[in-house]
Amino acid sequence: MPTYDAIVIGGGHNGLVAAAYLGRAGAKVLVLERRPVVGGAAVTEEPWPGYRINTFSYVAGLLRPQIVQELELGQYGYETILYDPQSFVPFPNGTSLSLWNDTEKTQREIAKFSKKDAAIYPKYEEYWDNVLDLVEPLLLAPPVPLPELVGMFEGPQAEELVRELFLLSAWDFLDEWFESDEVKISFATNAVIGEMCGPKTPGTAYVLAHHNIGILDGQRKVWGFSKGGMGRISEALAGSARHHGVEIRTGVGVRKVLLQGGRAVGVETSAGEQIHSRVVASNLDVKRTLLELVPPDAVPAEIRQQVQRFRTRGAALKFNAALHDLPEFTAAPGRPGPHHKGAIEIAPSMEYLEKAFDDAKYGRFSTHPFLDMEFQSASDPTMAPPGKHVMTCFVMYAPRELAGTTWSEFKPTAGERCLDTIAEFAPDIRRQVHHWQVVSPEDIENTLGMSGGNIFQGDITPDQIFSFRPILGWSSFRTPIPGLYFCGSTAHPGGGVTGGPGYNGAHAILEDLPGIPKG
Ligand SMILES: Cc1cc2nc3c(=O)[nH]c(=O)nc-3n(C[C@H](O)[C@H](O)[C@H](O)COP(=O)(O)OP(=O)(O)OC[C@H]3O[C@@H](n4cnc5c(N)ncnc54)[C@H](O)[C@@H]3O)c2cc1C
Repeated sequence: MPTYDAIVIGGGHNGLVAAAYLGRAGAKVLVLERRPVVGGAAVTEEPWPGYRINTFSYVAGLLRPQIVQELELGQYGYETILYDPQSFVPFPNGTSLSLWNDTEKTQREIAKFSKKDAAIYPKYEEYWDNVLDLVEPLLLAPPVPLPELVGMFEGPQAEELVRELFLLSAWDFLDEWFESDEVKISFATNAVIGEMCGPKTPGTAYVLAHHNIGILDGQRKVWGFSKGGMGRISEALAGSARHHGVEIRTGVGVRKVLLQGGRAVGVETSAGEQIHSRVVASNLDVKRTLLELVPPDAVPAEIRQQVQRFRTRGAALKFNAALHDLPEFTAAPGRPGPHHKGAIEIAPSMEYLEKAFDDAKYGRFSTHPFLDMEFQSASDPTMAPPGKHVMTCFVMYAPRELAGTTWSEFKPTAGERCLDTIAEFAPDIRRQVHHWQVVSPEDIENTLGMSGGNIFQGDITPDQIFSFRPILGWSSFRTPIPGLYFCGSTAHPGGGVTGGPGYNGAHAILEDLPGIPKG
């Protein structure tokens, strides 16, 4: 008799969601996490005493409300703080554009650059609301094949929507809406986050859609902080899972999936312990799962080829810092200002963003990088010692393989370049920085196991979403090996702290596991 109904390999937030739903349905579940902490890319660590740093992911909003509610995460410490403004973009001439939660307030900001764009903005918001009406119900469900998805768009605008969302670049898409470059860049950064793509790359309009699925406090298309840090989300998930009887072991890596008659029947840990279960769910990406955890002959050659071609290109690094005080921005003097409580985007024009990508095409870290910067301590004092602050920056473009150097050699230069770039907009930054760290794509790959350092366990471009994810024919969370399932962001609906892949993976298992009621 197997000891467990299900073993989950990896305690990333999706592994925890899967485990919690399985436990809630009555299954006996074991989670094995290689690191000393659960959460994967959703962790908060303390590299310097008293400073709580979101080492990897840093902004909340994508976690599906249904999961928050069903797993009662509020009872286990989950709490969010809405950004307002959502973003602040400073420009070199001392002007800036903030996007607020209030539409009219945002219109007034946009009108500083274009009255025409300000007038169209409510329609732009409505456009995304209509898209979300369609997409939201598809997130916590098996992915529909793309032709069927296209068929679900009804009415005369259906074909137009397909053209816009799946075929256009963010550059062309935003060109069709707005005239002002300042307005376009304020929206464009969300279209390239985490992707080895520039705003001119076809398909990036969809990436923009993916980053619009955020919902917090009942408001759509918004971002915020997880109070206490992103790790609090994972701790809440672990709390809920344990409440449902799930056993979680940290510091235990898995080196292989045990097979019997071609079926997954358990795992072998890095220490050589064999543990048996009825099914195994992998929180790891498709490459780690099907190319490393099982022997080559367990997966048909043509499927191995498909797995190999699944794109997992790293494109970003993190620059995290402990600060004496908040930096002062030339475009918005004073501290703290409202802009310190949301996202600050260092990407002052569409061309700046595309040029930043140009460097990466040839294996170079951007000469003038794009930074998405947050100071969570300005809204959440639990993140730093009294009077002090933390800064976290998501920085692009940082290719996984550098031309002519390595990440261990290049990290100090990358850090200095981040500081130089910030200093162009906030001249006192170097005076405020007390400690800093660079988390390179190599660190992301080695620490979390994300192939190529890709932050989403696989690009989320239109050819790798819905029924294409992670491989055509195997998008139902099942794998070619009976009893082995995907439950990580390599599967639908993809990357981000959404919980969706964990939810979907657990429900596929519950459908297949006789004797365990469905959740
Ligand atoms: C730098 C960075 C910034 C990001 N920013 C954001 C953001 O701000 N907001 C957002 O919503 N999303 C963000 N993302 C994306 C998001 O964090 C990820 O898509 C998501 O957290 C992935 O969750 P997961 O559970 O699917 O996988 P992971 O978090 O990758 O979890 C996999 C787990 O498996 C463990 N593991 C690996 N190998 C083994 C093994 N052999 N045995 C046992 N355990 C193993 C790992 O340690 C890890 O805990 C970011 C990601 C990164 C890397």
